[in-house]
Amino acid sequence: MSIRFFSRPRLRTICAASVLALVISSVAAANETIALKAARLFDGKTATLLQNGVVIVKGDTIADVGSNLPIPDGARVIDLGDATLSPGFMDAHTHLTLDYSGNYNERRLQELDLNVSEQAIRATKHAGATVQAGFTTVRDLGSRFVASREFVDVALRNSINKDIVVGPRMLVATKGIGATGGHFDPMNGFRDFLFGREPDYTDGIANGPDEIRKAVRFEVKNGADVIKAAVSGGVLSLTDEVDTPQLTPAEMAALVDESHRLRKKVAVHCHGDQAAREAIEAGVDSIEHGSFMKPETLARMKNKGTFLTPTLMASEWIMGKMNNYPLALQAKAKAAYLARSEMFRNALKIGIKISFGTDAAVFPHGQNAKEFKLMVDLGMKPLDALKSATASDAELLGIAQKVGTLEKGKLADIIAMPGDPTADITVTEHVSFVMKEGKIIRTGPATAETAATDESIDIGAPVD
Ligand SMILES: [Zn+2]
Repeated sequence: MSIRFFSRPRLRTICAASVLALVISSVAAANETIALKAARLFDGKTATLLQNGVVIVKGDTIADVGSNLPIPDGARVIDLGDATLSPGFMDAHTHLTLDYSGNYNERRLQELDLNVSEQAIRATKHAGATVQAGFTTVRDLGSRFVASREFVDVALRNSINKDIVVGPRMLVATKGIGATGGHFDPMNGFRDFLFGREPDYTDGIANGPDEIRKAVRFEVKNGADVIKAAVSGGVLSLTDEVDTPQLTPAEMAALVDESHRLRKKVAVHCHGDQAAREAIEAGVDSIEHGSFMKPETLARMKNKGTFLTPTLMASEWIMGKMNNYPLALQAKAKAAYLARSEMFRNALKIGIKISFGTDAAVFPHGQNAKEFKLMVDLGMKPLDALKSATASDAELLGIAQKVGTLEKGKLADIIAMPGDPTADITVTEHVSFVMKEGKIIRTGPATAETAATDESIDIGAPVD
């Protein structure tokens, strides 16, 4: 046993010395004061950029923020030059443990073929690419492998929190909850009983209010920070229609009540208008996608304070890579894509709360920031788009006390992008500096090591 190994006196001395050295170096880092300087600063709150921005970081916390601040004695100065400092970006809709960005049938086969431990090892790369791109927090909305009961998202979150893996702070949803035959049914599209059983609440599949409550309790028991459910059909599932309702109002009421009693927020996958109306009425915290929502439904969201997470990147990617998908999915993708631009413009006009979320995994991890340009192209002001990915996401995730703005006392999650995002929003895609909780994760432009390795999206060239 390992205890015997460590019980030898000489080894114990060596171990004690190296542990002491480690402790001293982490204490030194914790006390270090760093002054970040850049030509501009976005603090997450104000309607303009500050000029000559300075952020003073002490340990893991922001000690001061402002324009032309004096540099404290002994501080390490990092001058980022013609760049814009910003709170670390957040993505309220990722799937870091999955990757569906290639040929759909190949990826489905791979999901069955690879063992879940190997999928988990791959997920550590996805986490790395995401934080290197400037996303210091993600809400990870669903992680499942057909016929597996592993909680890979929980393991990844915990490993990041323990500094074993480099990645963003994660709030995870585990399996996601849905109806038999619905968007989340992992056996949707496979021959009946191919896996020897019907999926049940341990897979997130539940029918009726009592079973929904059981599924929520099971997910919270296993580490869920947030509850995700599919209340309407989806694009990347084989047999359901994209906009039909998949939970009843009574099931949604149970979902929201049980989650909120356990102090967990509820995010629902929803394309269809009827399902959205019923989910908003039930009191969900955010509607994910929302492609077919009508203006009256958006107005109801405004009254209730429900967030919309538009995930424009997901349909943009699918439309640009149509040949990668089976015909049935192509038809669903086109319908959702054609509806979502008008829905997004209406959402802006009506003034509902918009959170930044991409559905990363539908496209290669690390390309999350391409969502900013899609939002701005549909009429959102650049600073509002940046707010959605910082202060608004922090509010939706329930972590605004700690992160989301550059303010004294908050955790030092700070990034910098070259140039001025109000002049060119695509500078968000070239983040040059990343700090998470006072630790520098990246400084300097992307290298082959740090850049997302998969092929780029060809935005603006959808097939018909
Ligand atoms: Zn998703």
